[in-house]
Amino acid sequence: MKNVYLALGSNIEPREEYIKKALQALNAHQQIAIIKKSSVYKTAPVGYTDQANFLNMVIEVETSLLPLDLLEVCQSIEKQLGRRREIRFGPRTIDLDILIYNQENRKTERLTLPHPRMYERAFVLIPLDEIAPGLVIPAENGKHAADYIERLPESDIKGVRRWTEKGSAEE
Ligand code: AMP
Repeated sequence: MKNVYLALGSNIEPREEYIKKALQALNAHQQIAIIKKSSVYKTAPVGYTDQANFLNMVIEVETSLLPLDLLEVCQSIEKQLGRRREIRFGPRTIDLDILIYNQENRKTERLTLPHPRMYERAFVLIPLDEIAPGLVIPAENGKHAADYIERLPESDIKGVRRWTEKGSAEE
């Protein structure tokens, strides 16, 4: 069994419903078990800012799937929930990213692990720090999520606020 951290995000209503459905779809998969869930956070969009606020969370899962097979499952759930890839970094019903897969370090066209943009994303680092404060991110010079959060601008950190208590988006 491999230990994996996934990031979920949605900014098209009903956002909570999309997050819930993605969690259900992941849990329904025979080779995936959700171990831990962060709170759900409401976050201001970064990058392409002319869009609605996101709901974001991070989960820890155990899986026997290989990285590319897990990516395929994530992408099929995105598709199933109606995600269309129109604007890069633009609005989405659901976005599922693999943040960390065990101790894997790889950079291929289809998959980079750990996720290459996680280090500058407060909406990923804050929920990751909530559920895995002791985790060392398995990258070169890898550190704890909190170390990367410290380097972010105050405005990014303030843009990520707890929206629900831990696990309440489960059922
Ligand atoms: P996005 O539009 O942000 O969901 O990006 C999806 C694209 O990023 C897909 O084409 C994936 O093949 C690629 N990708 C690379 N690394 C990762 C990762 N760690 N998790 C999810 N997608 C990834």
